[in-house]
Amino acid sequence: MKQVLTVFFFTILAIAAFAQEEVRGVCGVTELSPNLDKNLVKYYKGDFDQTEAIKYIAVVVHNVGNNAGEGYIYERNIFQMIPGLNEYYKDTDFRFYLADNDINYLNSTSVHTNPEGSFAQIKMKNLRSEYAHGINLFIAKKLGDVGIGTKLGYFSGYPNDWIVMKHSEINYSSNTLAHEVGHFFSLAHTFYGWENHPFQEEDFSDIWPIAPVNSPSFNQKVELVDGSNATTAADRITDTPPDYNFGLIWPGCDYDGGAKDPNGVLVDPQEKNQMSYFNGCDPIFTPMQSDVMVVDYETVGREYIHSDYVPTLEPVVEEATLISPIEGEAAGTTNVTLKWEAVDKATRYFVQISRTTDFSEFVNRYYTTETQFTIPETLTSDVNYFWRVVPFNEAGNHSEGVTGSEKFTTQPLATSDIQEINAWNILPNPTTGEVNLTIQSDKALTLSAQLIALDGRVLSSKVFNTNTGQQNFQMPSIDSKGTYFLRLMSNNGVETRRIIVQ
Ligand SMILES: [Zn+2]
Repeated sequence: MKQVLTVFFFTILAIAAFAQEEVRGVCGVTELSPNLDKNLVKYYKGDFDQTEAIKYIAVVVHNVGNNAGEGYIYERNIFQMIPGLNEYYKDTDFRFYLADNDINYLNSTSVHTNPEGSFAQIKMKNLRSEYAHGINLFIAKKLGDVGIGTKLGYFSGYPNDWIVMKHSEINYSSNTLAHEVGHFFSLAHTFYGWENHPFQEEDFSDIWPIAPVNSPSFNQKVELVDGSNATTAADRITDTPPDYNFGLIWPGCDYDGGAKDPNGVLVDPQEKNQMSYFNGCDPIFTPMQSDVMVVDYETVGREYIHSDYVPTLEPVVEEATLISPIEGEAAGTTNVTLKWEAVDKATRYFVQISRTTDFSEFVNRYYTTETQFTIPETLTSDVNYFWRVVPFNEAGNHSEGVTGSEKFTTQPLATSDIQEINAWNILPNPTTGEVNLTIQSDKALTLSAQLIALDGRVLSSKVFNTNTGQQNFQMPSIDSKGTYFLRLMSNNGVETRRIIVQ
């Protein structure tokens, strides 16, 4: 029995260790910004804007798919990322918004799966020049691997000046973008010098718990608790206490591992610092980190992100209510119009249709400022389509609800008994009263149409002159619910179809 328990116990440990390794994410930035030292000189001189005036910064988002235009991240995640970024920067002078109230799409398998490759870098450099009015963010499916964890994102370094992030980090709660923007503005990791070797007993058993004078990575001076070398050690920021990359090995937000600095003084890191590797600790920037970011913002190299534009900072907080077609309603294959209710604060709507409920296949994506959208493509007949709408504005979307989708079914293509007509349809059918006809013909024709009640009375009639191709015509609306007929007549034939008004 005892043996069984022991085996079981070790199995749990192995799973726990494996799970922890799986989720432990790291940042791809290891170098100190070449601008940091210059920025610190200005900081100590007080040579920067200390008025706390808000600086508005556009985030240019590149949603990267493969060469076939597949594998983009769901746009709702991008809209939700913007208010999350602003929440993390609420105590700083920076506010962020979605550049151009839009998302750029890039089809490039190399950027999608290997953004650090040289081919991808050329593409990104070109796009960074083309979209030089904000911080460029590329969203990639796969980033390069590193030994100590899964790379979640990185800042390319100045002057390339772009950020790359993995799909998993594009959401409201992840602080990866906030952290990378910190690197963009020249901040280093609070644990700089310990990147690949967190200070822990198992790796430093000969000296534990006293830290060495020089760090294992980049041979940096190890920061002391008394602050005496804070201006030249680790991140060079004096209001961030020493951190020997404990975040990578410590699961919680209260490090109690017992590590001591080279003087033998117990180290108490700031677990909630944005530039540490602690996870889920409600991270912040310190006052000096915030000021150094302002210094960096004011340098010549950063002028391209300056703008007088004042965006809204109020994201959309509600979901769209879909009106039609819903609940598997029948629709045609052409000119299908999707309708939904207006959403407060929304300036644009992202509309998606797909053949699958998870929107993974046969997806089309559209943007509109209206509360309806007519699908420009001809749809496949006699199949199901799913559609959903995400309302947003340049401050993004911070709805905590779930974006629902609706289904409609396309009708079988109805061919015509009237020889001159290839096909015609009544849309929508069932209808709430409006009667629209779609007619496809090979030549110009004169047709007449009659709306007929169940008892045979002709309720209305109309004459249409068609041209070649597909055209739409409208009959007078029907006021009361029930079954009706539409009779279409040419010189060569008559055809009648049933209409349901509900
Ligand atoms: Zn980092």
